[in-house]
Amino acid sequence: MKLAVIGMYHETNTFAPGRTGLEAFSTEWVLGNDEFLSRYRDTRTSMGGVIDAVCSEGIELACGLYAGAVPSGMIAADAADHLIGAVAGSLDTTSDGVLVILHGAMAAEGLPDVEGELLRRVRERLGLSKPIAATLDLHANISPEMVRNTNILVGYDTYPHIDAYERAVEAAALLIRTIRGEIVPTLAMAKPGMLVVPQMMPTHEEGPMKEWMDRAFAMELEPRVLNVTVAGGFPYSDVPDAGVSFVVTTDKDPELAVRYADELKRMAWDSRERFAYAALPVEEAVSKAMEIAEGPVILVEGSDNVGGGAPADAPIPWLF
Ligand SMILES: [Zn+2]
Repeated sequence: MKLAVIGMYHETNTFAPGRTGLEAFSTEWVLGNDEFLSRYRDTRTSMGGVIDAVCSEGIELACGLYAGAVPSGMIAADAADHLIGAVAGSLDTTSDGVLVILHGAMAAEGLPDVEGELLRRVRERLGLSKPIAATLDLHANISPEMVRNTNILVGYDTYPHIDAYERAVEAAALLIRTIRGEIVPTLAMAKPGMLVVPQMMPTHEEGPMKEWMDRAFAMELEPRVLNVTVAGGFPYSDVPDAGVSFVVTTDKDPELAVRYADELKRMAWDSRERFAYAALPVEEAVSKAMEIAEGPVILVEGSDNVGGGAPADAPIPWLF
């Protein structure tokens, strides 16, 4: 057996100023087995997870291109075109299946669903008979095109994200079982039509997001359920598929996949009021900051987060 791995990673803030060009991906443009293995072996990344999962089974790994950039503004049309062509083109089509490492919230000028287009091209090159697995960030804006062109979709279960490695191992294991004919994954997606801010998405604190995750984990205990992905979505992206998504993957049971995805969708909609984020008015925030004896105190507007591609030109440093 031979498994291919490729990837493309960027969180696109379509409200941020400027355009993201191809040069933004130059610091993480990793092509071929030698580069991929020397850079990612023994790392707790998605790529490290794929390497361990595939090598521990004695399976041959065919590394294509993995290109990543830090979050920033809209990707320029020509950059997206080149990137998709290079990543899809690097796929070893003699492989028995492919794992595609994605963020899930990439957007380009004229192309709001970059990952959907990449996966469509990967499917075109690999054919219908070989399985495609993809991993996604918890902030993925999952599109019908992504679901249509994959057999296995596995998103992070944590925010802050601490399980990229584990989820890649999980996706690779499902891919290997699919190739061996042990399982036949069927996917169903449901979207409640909710745009939620990241401040309300922590998965380790009590709250609605944790409740969705707990329900998803309970579903995953059933033998017919292969994976339940809960994606909070990335709201700083003005694209049609932005927002919360649930993808349920079952073994040969499309009806159950639909039923569970719908259950999570209803659960989400019923908890929508609990996602309202109460930001402090500026005066109140300043007076609270003044009460803190030891600094520094930094007042920030939550959406102006560099980790989400914003320029961070709004914080007010309040030094004592
Ligand atoms: Zn994220």
